[in-house]
Amino acid sequence: MPETPRVAIVTGAARGIGAATARRLAAEGHSVAVLDLAEADANATAEQITADGGTAIAVGADVSDAGQVRTAVDQVADRLGRPAILVNNAGVIRDNMLFKMSDDDWDTVLGVHLRGAFLMSRAAQEYMTSDGWGRIVNLSSSSALGNRGQANYSAAKAGMQGFTKTLAVELGKFGVTANAVAPGFIATDMTRATAERVGMEFEDFKNAAAASIPVRRVGRPEDIANTIAFLTGEAAGFVSGQVIYVAGGPLD
Ligand code: NAP
Repeated sequence: MPETPRVAIVTGAARGIGAATARRLAAEGHSVAVLDLAEADANATAEQITADGGTAIAVGADVSDAGQVRTAVDQVADRLGRPAILVNNAGVIRDNMLFKMSDDDWDTVLGVHLRGAFLMSRAAQEYMTSDGWGRIVNLSSSSALGNRGQANYSAAKAGMQGFTKTLAVELGKFGVTANAVAPGFIATDMTRATAERVGMEFEDFKNAAAASIPVRRVGRPEDIANTIAFLTGEAAGFVSGQVIYVAGGPLD
């Protein structure tokens, strides 16, 4: 059954998982706001969607800034229509062992992932709850289970799971679902940066990761976009408050 066309916002959609998700939601027939820090970076994804026959706009905003979030969400409502789908995907890493982790490493990561998801969700739910339909998907991570050098990131990604469950509890009666997708290793600029940090070629880093993944490959951004397309679709209306690990195998 084709999806009812909606207005979707995908944060951090200039590249990686966010860009793949924006393209996928546009292919489902949704109008997509491609939001990223710099509008110019978001433009490439939006232009690609438009070239493929979809509808998209680029929006520049820092998701951790309350004023910019408010302006961005209202701008989407003015230019595309009332947002009904929100994917909180924007993310950064500032990896360091705890004894070397700076206050700024901590605040930046918690600020983008957790405060960003909070600010975006609070702004978007106003439209969703008054329209009686909405889908929120938050990006968690397998690192929520703990990962060396990522005290800040794993705290943020575990926080995303509790945040998601609370949104599901509060917003369900308004027709709004909230779920988290927790990717394992996905080949993007983020994992490329991790390879650089540990002094490995990206290909070697990916091959080493693939060897310990049951399906014997690392993930692609499209693997996550496919899962998000399901969770944001009509058919997922009874799925809420869940954390879905998309990691090529089970995780503890
Ligand atoms: P990515 O390639 O680094 O892309 C992240 C995007 O978020 C970038 O375009 C970045 O913009 C944007 N962004 C950063 N801070 C922002 C802010 N304050 N406001 C708006 N946009 C901001 O990352 P990815 O690998 O696609 O990851 C996407 C999401 O999946 C993240 O939440 C990440 O934690 C999660 N995840 C990824 C993996 C993986 O293996 N790749 C695994 C688990 C979870 P700039 O380029 O301007 O910084």
